[in-house]
Amino acid sequence: MSAPHVDRIRRANEEASRRGLDAVVVSPSPDLAYLTGYDPMPLERPTLLVLRPERDPALLVPELERPLAAASPMGKHLDLVPWLDGADPYEAVASLLDGAARVAVADRLWASHLMGLQRALPGASFSPASAVLGRLRSVKDASELEVLRRAARAADETFREILAMSFEGRSEEAVAHDLAELLVRHGHAKAEFTIVASGPHAASPHHEPGGRTILPRDAVVMDFGGELGGYFSDTTRTVVVVEAPEGFPQAYEAVQEAQAAAVDAVRPGVRAEEIDRVARAVIEAAGYGERFIHRTGHGIGLELHEPPYMVEGDGTVLEPRMTFSVEPGVYVEGRFGIRIEDIVAVSQDGVERLNRSTRDLQVVA
Ligand code: ZN
Ligand code: ZN
Ligand code: ZN
Repeated sequence: MSAPHVDRIRRANEEASRRGLDAVVVSPSPDLAYLTGYDPMPLERPTLLVLRPERDPALLVPELERPLAAASPMGKHLDLVPWLDGADPYEAVASLLDGAARVAVADRLWASHLMGLQRALPGASFSPASAVLGRLRSVKDASELEVLRRAARAADETFREILAMSFEGRSEEAVAHDLAELLVRHGHAKAEFTIVASGPHAASPHHEPGGRTILPRDAVVMDFGGELGGYFSDTTRTVVVVEAPEGFPQAYEAVQEAQAAAVDAVRPGVRAEEIDRVARAVIEAAGYGERFIHRTGHGIGLELHEPPYMVEGDGTVLEPRMTFSVEPGVYVEGRFGIRIEDIVAVSQDGVERLNRSTRDLQVVA
């Protein structure tokens, strides 16, 4: 049970030494869950995992949470260092970090805790641990990949079934509610988000579904996902109600083509930003370049959005078992929006689509 965690901590230490870091400090967050399987709530009382190459990992933990930490998957493999209310936890971390000059801290470490560490270790320099952990977490192991596949399949089933439900005359909220229910019915522990953006609302990519009544000739963007076994699904499909609005089919074709071209470009050795360029080139050539107002994709795993990012400037070289979204879109203010999103995994020599529901334009009633 603890085997993947032992190995992850070893690899985190190796990566830290390669980068000339003396220590990595991790607070409750997906980073801590990834490394130890321990996933408590982040609180004002600091819980901090201290990794130092060549030393045993230590977990500073509030005394009252020690039993929880001890019972967690890595409890037996960590030196638990309890601290009592009234003591200075940052001084305790400082002694664990004795002699460390370059310290990486989890991106989600609260500023108040970082300032405590800075006070206790005035000589140390601090940097974000995403440089170490983001890279490790971006390459999934076989069991992580299997959970992501299951989550994607559950999201695909959700889309298949929503197509049979009625849209015309119902509110965005009502359709969003159905999506959330279907996500859970198909195996998600919970629905995380259900964007339903109809008609002119669809021009806002992160629209919050509301009371608007869905009408014939609306395009409806549905972007939805949930959590399953600690990992996320995230897929988007755009459908039209009864018939497509004017100007829509050409734009839909451009987005569908851009998405297909970008997915086809995924293989080991290609840079993340190149996937964005491929999608953007197709949409620009079709004349909608200015209406593609966001990056092409984001990594996905224990977090809905995590490295790498398919965006100009992200030079991450794709490796087998990296997982991310490919989701180009076109947004025409006041009229309609279109987005098509699938999660993909980099395979040994190309790409595996985790989402497989149809991307051909679907007409709903
Ligand atoms: Zn989004
Ligand atoms: Zn999405
Ligand atoms: Zn997404």
